[in-house]
Amino acid sequence: MKFNTKTIHGGQEPDLAYGSVMPPIYQTSTFAQSTPGGHKGFVYSRSANPTRNALEKSFASIENGEFGLAFGSGLAAIDAVIKLLEPGDEVISTNDLYGGTYRLFTRIFEKFGIKFNFIGMEKASNIENYITDNTKLIWVETPTNPMMNIIDIKTTAAIAKKYNVLLAVDNTFATPYLQRPLDLGADIVMHSATKYLGGHSDLVMGALVVKDKDLADRLYFIQNASGAVCGPQDSFLALRGIKTLHIRMQRHCENGKAVAEYLANHSKIEKVYWPGFKSHPNHDIAKAQMNDFGGMVSFTAKGNNYNEAIKIIENLKVFTLAESLGGVESLAGHPASMTHASIPKEEREKIGVVDSLIRLSVGIEDEEDLISDLKQAIG
Ligand SMILES: *Cc1c(COP(=O)(O)O)cnc(C)c1O
Repeated sequence: MKFNTKTIHGGQEPDLAYGSVMPPIYQTSTFAQSTPGGHKGFVYSRSANPTRNALEKSFASIENGEFGLAFGSGLAAIDAVIKLLEPGDEVISTNDLYGGTYRLFTRIFEKFGIKFNFIGMEKASNIENYITDNTKLIWVETPTNPMMNIIDIKTTAAIAKKYNVLLAVDNTFATPYLQRPLDLGADIVMHSATKYLGGHSDLVMGALVVKDKDLADRLYFIQNASGAVCGPQDSFLALRGIKTLHIRMQRHCENGKAVAEYLANHSKIEKVYWPGFKSHPNHDIAKAQMNDFGGMVSFTAKGNNYNEAIKIIENLKVFTLAESLGGVESLAGHPASMTHASIPKEEREKIGVVDSLIRLSVGIEDEEDLISDLKQAIG
């Protein structure tokens, strides 16, 4: 089955009870048993729920994995991955990272004796310098948020294999439409399904996908034991969103390209971060591991001026000022005060998240309306 068919049919079959084509929303916490242990595969909805199961199969299918797990948020999915580790274990992570992931690593898990190294991975060979006997996990986000750096998944996977370390990739920005980390050698793919997979800014959800049965069993144990699952209504909405992932992504990419090129040619714009530019430092890697370049674009105005950035953001009319990304509607964000406020200013600026940086999640509206909105906002 090809990707554009998997989004619609992957792991899905008509419901066994009445043949409904869309999976029913099994809005129940528990399931009747005929005798203790006499059940039809479902016992209690934290452990498993048919609507969530349908979604988990869809996640696995679109990422070319074997096992999918759905969580109550992207961070709950990351939390489950880190719970595979023990005190004393070390993690090597991308330094340009979603702010909430950084907060979870440093404010929650460091307390439990897990050590995190945040490093630049634009040159994958740099990772090897940080591997010790205690390294158990490499955490990669690519493209990174919000600087749009690209990390070579295949090379990183080879390093992980060499040292017998797990590689997890946060694939939220790219989605499996653009890049499939398991095919490139990663062990775990993670998503904030809140973003492109759901695609309509109407739910909060996380996903993990793996190929290995043993790893899947360990993660299922954590999912059930810690209990950060999503409900059946949200599972249904996510399944519905995934059915149009491929056509939404196609338009996100087209509009993203148009916006990036418009900004790059604008006299009042200083820098534009988008992996589709030939001048992007890792453009060749992006071209090799992605099918297109996505709808996320970051930029700074000339003079690198905070007030100028805020003025542009406030002037935007079609783009909405809001947290999050990946929905059908275009959003603008100010990472330094919003998504990345939980990262200390010094750390932030080291990786380029200056106070004048604006991040756009380019939606699937008409391209002309998006460009003219930027035109009037920048002036
Ligand atoms: C939003 C986001 C997360 C966190 O996901 P939630 O669903 O908000 O918990 C993690 N990684 C990336 C890249 C994100 O954009």
